[in-house]
Amino acid sequence: MIQKPKGTYDVFDREGKKILYLQKLFSSLMEKYNYEYVRTPVFEMSELFHRGVGDTTDIVTKETYDFIDRGGRGMTLRPEGTAGVVRSFIENKMYGRATQPVKVWYGETMYRYERPQSGRYREFYQLGVEVFGSTDPMIDAEVISIPVQFYQLLGLKGIKVHINSLGDKESRLAYKNALLEHFKPYLDTLCEDCKERYHKNPLRILDCKIDADKEIMKNAPKMQDYLNEESKTYYENVKKYLDSLGISYIETPNLVRGLDYYSHTVFEVEASVEGFGSQNVLCGGGRYDGLVEMLDGPSTPGVGFALGLERLLTALEFEKIDLLGESGIDIYVIPMDDTKEYTIRITNILRMNGFNVDTDMMNRNIKGNFKQADRLNAKYVMIIGSEELNSQILTIKDNKTQEEFKIKEENLIDFFDEKIEVEE
Ligand code: AMP
Repeated sequence: MIQKPKGTYDVFDREGKKILYLQKLFSSLMEKYNYEYVRTPVFEMSELFHRGVGDTTDIVTKETYDFIDRGGRGMTLRPEGTAGVVRSFIENKMYGRATQPVKVWYGETMYRYERPQSGRYREFYQLGVEVFGSTDPMIDAEVISIPVQFYQLLGLKGIKVHINSLGDKESRLAYKNALLEHFKPYLDTLCEDCKERYHKNPLRILDCKIDADKEIMKNAPKMQDYLNEESKTYYENVKKYLDSLGISYIETPNLVRGLDYYSHTVFEVEASVEGFGSQNVLCGGGRYDGLVEMLDGPSTPGVGFALGLERLLTALEFEKIDLLGESGIDIYVIPMDDTKEYTIRITNILRMNGFNVDTDMMNRNIKGNFKQADRLNAKYVMIIGSEELNSQILTIKDNKTQEEFKIKEENLIDFFDEKIEVEE
């Protein structure tokens, strides 16, 4: 038997329903915030990620799915959403729109060749947003508020928001130099990756999981001490707006995030419940003011986040939040005798009027059909025998109370409209 590739999973049954529920909720939330939906290709020219995500990140150096297409071009399955959206922003000249800033959202599968473990897959699904064109700290606060509101809508309680500022270019340069000085005497004691990070992007040493507990990491210089006045003010304003929104946050000086392109605000939302496991970062994001320019677009500021669906589902399960409740169909139609043509017609009319309806396709007997109605958790069962066919008066049963109704075909929709709340 051929099995699914390592680190992937199939979506079906309740999992499928939950995922659709989350996608729908996120999409309606995005409408409220006035973000527009975008979709970019699952593969892009490899260069996009090398330049866009950064050559010092694990995502690009160790984890991409690369292939040469039949035309000899180097392609990569997207490992994250931002680079593709930035490419699309530039290519479609969204920077020329009158309605700035450009606020977009996406929901897509991502691909990283990581060591699979709980909460870490090789194909996973991210919901995310990107905002281009605004340097107002209010937009940073809005972007942070989106996952927080989303988690709150879902009823998640054990979440913590971590924020930090990486400052502007000048502040970061001063900080980088301080880090180089600090780590220089201890370079030999750092892990192999950190030795490389030391030369390519020393900020990322702070992100290291292997060296995290070492003394030299704990007493490393703090970014806050190297922020210039402008960067300090920016950070203060982001916090001010978060306070106005009633969002509590923890300032976390070692938070630098894995990607090379961040500036000013960086943040993560964590599932902070005991026993949740090590993969507890539900969402991460930040500001990336240089990225559009780095990918050959006009200098444009950007800010965004991505949240993982798999870890969110685990967090919901962990907090025993049931997304689906009692789900079932509205009406199960049972054809009896030789009434299938009439049955398919009535079933279709009901569906077109907004009800969730199913009917028998297995030629069950009446007992089997009632069992099936129970399995599908149908609210109502409609029986169509030759008598109903001839009189066009239909027999309907409330599947819970067993109350029986005789309803004329022409009054059918009115009857169900009154009984069943149709979801928009
Ligand atoms: P990142 O793009 O690495 O900043 O990740 C953003 C979010 O995507 C994380 O907080 C996770 O929820 C999710 N995520 C990242 N990598 C994986 C993975 N390999 N498997 C499942 N979820 C992931």
